[in-house]
Amino acid sequence: MIRDTVPFVNSVYEATTHRSYYPPLHDHIDADVCVIGGGIAGCSTALHLAQRNYRVVLLEAKYIGHGASGRSGGQLLPGYSCGQQVLQQQLGNELAHRLWDISVEAVQLATNLISTHQIECGLKFGHLHAAIKPRHHTELLREQAQLHDEYDYKTLHMIEGSKLHSMINSSRYRAGLYDSAAAHLHPLNYTLGLVRVASKAGAMIHERSEVISIDHLHNRMLIKTQNGTVSAKQIVLCANVDNVKLLPQSRIMPVATYMIATEILGERADQALSENLAVSDCNFIVDYFRMMDSRLLFGGGVSYSGHARASSNNYLRQRMLKVFPQLHDVNIEYAWHGMLDISMNRAPDFGRIENNIYYLQGFSGHGLALATMAGKLLAESMAMQSERFDVFSQIKHRSFPGGVLRTPLLMLAMVWYRLRDLQ
Ligand SMILES: Cc1cc2nc3c(=O)[nH]c(=O)nc-3n(C[C@H](O)[C@H](O)[C@H](O)COP(=O)(O)OP(=O)(O)OC[C@H]3O[C@@H](n4cnc5c(N)ncnc54)[C@H](O)[C@@H]3O)c2cc1C
Repeated sequence: MIRDTVPFVNSVYEATTHRSYYPPLHDHIDADVCVIGGGIAGCSTALHLAQRNYRVVLLEAKYIGHGASGRSGGQLLPGYSCGQQVLQQQLGNELAHRLWDISVEAVQLATNLISTHQIECGLKFGHLHAAIKPRHHTELLREQAQLHDEYDYKTLHMIEGSKLHSMINSSRYRAGLYDSAAAHLHPLNYTLGLVRVASKAGAMIHERSEVISIDHLHNRMLIKTQNGTVSAKQIVLCANVDNVKLLPQSRIMPVATYMIATEILGERADQALSENLAVSDCNFIVDYFRMMDSRLLFGGGVSYSGHARASSNNYLRQRMLKVFPQLHDVNIEYAWHGMLDISMNRAPDFGRIENNIYYLQGFSGHGLALATMAGKLLAESMAMQSERFDVFSQIKHRSFPGGVLRTPLLMLAMVWYRLRDLQ
């Protein structure tokens, strides 16, 4: 079989994976559902629909996991990027509780899929939300009390002092909220595992099959790629920031974010942090890091212009050295970026238009567990059990400003948040 090579991404994940390749679409297929996008959202949707005996086709423009799903920090966390407060204010206590429970189930769903289908993705448990400033510490104490007392979430422990420093070799943090039920993993291998299971369950998978048009045709949808067509009763848009090209709307904003991986640290690994721990800090512009195969993987920084910054490698290295100055002489071997689909209030945006176009977007940097769950909820919804999916449709979303004001306004917002992080 002749195939192109995967477009170059200098990512430690791409360098440590073994791919199976799926053929491009070359003919016409009649299907019940066409899923567009081969990230976690698309692969999980295809899997859960195939398990319910839908005839499902998944079309991926490049290669499975080529988007955010194969490039992420790998942190498998409950909750939402917007926090419970936003959901409570908008939807009231009962629905906010339902959404929290769904997010906890999302982590369990991902870990169950990994163990049931033996997806080799280096799953490890343990996440620390780290406080840099006194106000972060206060916020974490409040969060711990609220989740424990109101949400019955009992796996959180506050860690301070020498215990904290035995977990992270850094003086930057004054405390951390440790969650023994949150996890981390190799996100590309997880995504490739999901698609393997989806394919086994009967989903038809096509890579290098970019959708170039979608038309209504006699109560069905006609989806065109360069060399083939799919006719389907329903479509599911899982193209992350590229959803906006297929579904005219401006409720998500593309934001670039960055990661680096050091050389193998070997005996120096304990100068950073324990292999089992993933960490994210409490700043609005979050730094997140973990060890993988004795390398430190460090992520952070965002660019709101819609384009990745060319000098991200050095920029992130400086951020890493703020946390671990002792690693000043360590080489950075990998540097890459990915795109986030941020919604205005940072809450997920799932919904449907006229019962035949579904969309999953707005993960806002918190999509590893949630995108897995979104696929399951979507399959429930198509099978007339729409109750849980419809809770998400009740979240109100606003559009981002368009035209010439778009980028300057976002830049202004970023300056405000940077200043806030400095306080
Ligand atoms: C650097 C980085 C770090 C992150 N860290 C974390 C983390 O630690 N924890 C966490 O929970 N979340 C994290 N996230 C967010 C998380 O990765 C995403 O929310 C999640 O992977 C989104 O999955 P998705 O399937 O919606 O999108 P994607 O994985 O981006 O998949 C969309 C796919 O659609 C394809 N596509 C686009 N247009 C078309 C078209 N026209 N036709 C066919 N296919 C098309 C793309 O090629 C792509 O493969 C991070 C994201 C990034 C970028």
